Amino acid sequence: MNSPLLTQNQVNPEAVSPLLDVSVVVPIYNEVESLPRLVAAINDSLQDTDLNYEILCIDDGSTDGSTALLRDLTQQYSTLRAVILRRNYGQTPAMAAGFNHARGQSIITLDGDLQNDPADIPMLLAKLDEGYDLVTGWRKNRQDAALTRLLPSKIANWLIGRITGVKVHDYGCSLKAYRAELVADMNLYGELHRFLPALAFIEGARITELPVRHHARQFGNSKYGLGRTFRVLLDLLTIFFMKKFLTRPMHVFGLLGIIATALGILFGLYLTFLKFGMGQEIGDRPLLILVAVLISTGVQFFSLGLLGELLMRTYHESQGRPIYRVREIINNKQ
Ligand code: UDP
Ligand code: MG
Repeated sequence: MNSPLLTQNQVNPEAVSPLLDVSVVVPIYNEVESLPRLVAAINDSLQDTDLNYEILCIDDGSTDGSTALLRDLTQQYSTLRAVILRRNYGQTPAMAAGFNHARGQSIITLDGDLQNDPADIPMLLAKLDEGYDLVTGWRKNRQDAALTRLLPSKIANWLIGRITGVKVHDYGCSLKAYRAELVADMNLYGELHRFLPALAFIEGARITELPVRHHARQFGNSKYGLGRTFRVLLDLLTIFFMKKFLTRPMHVFGLLGIIATALGILFGLYLTFLKFGMGQEIGDRPLLILVAVLISTGVQFFSLGLLGELLMRTYHESQGRPIYRVREIINNKQ
């Protein structure tokens, strides 16, 4: 049966009232050798707890037989559900699909290549229960190539920390635990899944990190190379602007516009005075060019602010997204 297509913003009705304690969301793209061990390991980590859980594998257009294997594994494991995407979309859309289909009150994400250790899951859940909205893993002993992976990642982590103001050591770690409400209203684009802590922080979430184990890839190949670094940096720019301007574009661009226009008018008046008051030639004055540039950029900044305001309103109102997030409502229940 074909399930109706869900956009990222439409929360799956199944997810509205969580039925389970935990959903473990795993994006799978050509991980056929890892899959059996992965599912077994996740089961091992959770079956001795008294939690109701599901393992939700998102097959992101695999071509190596992972899809057929998932079909078999769902027969073996009653806790396993698989969502098969129509083609390869990338890790972020795969995770978004997982979030939309997850039915748990808490959501764990991890990679499907066994680089994250499923045995860490209970520890993350325990931390979440201490009152956090997001617990992110920190691969203290990361087992990846030094030059192409660790170095870019160190730089990226530092930069992301500086720009977003969220101080965690390792943004790239997929092993994370979330409260379901937190991800329900978060939209993911590009490679934004690694910025979930930052996005969550903008939404006012309580975030912490926990050192987790990390293993070298045993099977298959990494789907990424150095190119990812640049995409991550571009996404970082998006986050930077979202954090700064999302709900008040006019405050930023309007102010710039007013300053530029005012300076332009001021210098323009000065030049007018020189020309008509003092009879000087002003045609060869660089200041004249500056006046033109200041006034035209000023007007543009101002218009950009206005457009930003309109777009921002459309963004929030068309999706019914309030500009605030409620943590809880306290009632006198008598
Ligand atoms: N992945 C995916 N779609 C993609 C690329 C990757 O679902 O287009 C999955 C992949 O199967 C793995 C996880 O995302 O479970 C992380 O990928 P990978 O291990 O290649 O990244 P790395 O650990 O090298 O950063
Ligand atoms: Mg990996």
